[in-house]
Parts: sequence; C-alpha cells; structure tokens
Amino acid sequence: MTARTHDVAAITFLGLVFVASPLQKISITTFLLCVLFNQIGGVLPDIDQPTAPLWKNLPISRPIGRIVDKTLLGGHRFITHSLLGLFIFSLLLSLLFGLFKSTSINFNLVLVSFFIGYLSHLVMDSFTKEGVPWLLPITKKIGFPPLKKMRITTGSWVEHLVVLPLLVIFSLLLLTNNYNLLLNFFRNYLIR
Ligand SMILES: [Zn+2]
Repeated sequence: MTARTHDVAAITFLGLVFVASPLQKISITTFLLCVLFNQIGGVLPDIDQPTAPLWKNLPISRPIGRIVDKTLLGGHRFITHSLLGLFIFSLLLSLLFGLFKSTSINFNLVLVSFFIGYLSHLVMDSFTKEGVPWLLPITKKIGFPPLKKMRITTGSWVEHLVVLPLLVIFSLLLLTNNYNLLLNFFRNYLIR
C-alpha cells in the first residue's frame, strides 16, 4: 500500500482502539505525541524501500535507501514487515523513551500508539499481492485472502478508489458515532 493509505489506516486503527478503551486523563503533549508516533509507526516498515518517503527527503537519499534496503533489512517486505520487526522497533523506542524523565508525558501510551500504527501497516500490506512475512524467521509471506489473485496491487485504482475512500468513510463513521465520547474526552480528560 502507499504511504497515504498507511497514514489513514494508522489513525483509523488508533481511533478504533481509543473508542474501545476506557477514557483516562492525559496531557495535551501526550495526545499529540500519540498521534505523531502512530503516524511514524504507520509508515516505518517501508524504510526498507529505496523510494520510501524518509529516504526521498534526504539529500543522498537513494544510495542510503539502497544500503538500508539490501544490507540491513534484507530487501523490501522482509524484517520490518514482520512481528519480529514490530517488537524490535517497539523495544528500541521504549529504550529511547526510557532516557526521558517527564511527569507530563505518558510514554506508555505513546508507545502503544506507535505499536498500533505499525501493526496497521502489516495488516494493510497483508491485503496486497505480495503479502507480508508476519512470522519471520519463517520467510513465507502471508496475505489475505489466501488466494493471491483476490488481493490488491499496491498503487492500483482499487487502492486509491476503493480502499482509501472506505477507510476515510469508516473513520468518519467512527467520529460521528462516538461524538459524545470525543466531546467528553476533550472537555474532561485532556489536561494541560
Ligand atoms: Zn509496507
């Protein structure tokens, strides 16, 4: 899937978990960091592509992207597209967060938001023809539906005109159906 679809999917998954969980008081900083790290998690698995947005924005992007792709991560849709990758990145991030001492930021929630974003990427890529090696070191790529022909081609019209709009509609439904819950959260649970 393309980066845009992953962005929308990541925030949709986060919204789903949010409405299903009991509300708790969090700071505005925590809230913003949750959204930010959810979005980072949503696109991070694709750093194994030389054309990934991250590498495109660097001046010496392509050579670095290639080295990371082939040498470090084993090529596209390998370690970063697996549960192993999800746990490695989450562990690294939790170690990084451990360096900061802040009473106003709930780093556990930020980490969970990252995890949800990352997981949404693997789920969405499972609907594409290539599938995802969920169970590395078992290299078999798994997809849904199991029949490859029925899966989506990344960047195709089906992704842009069906999957993406469906995700947006689903997010809007989630927002409108949980309006009172959101209002309650922003009024009574979001603190400075
Ligand atoms: Zn991907």
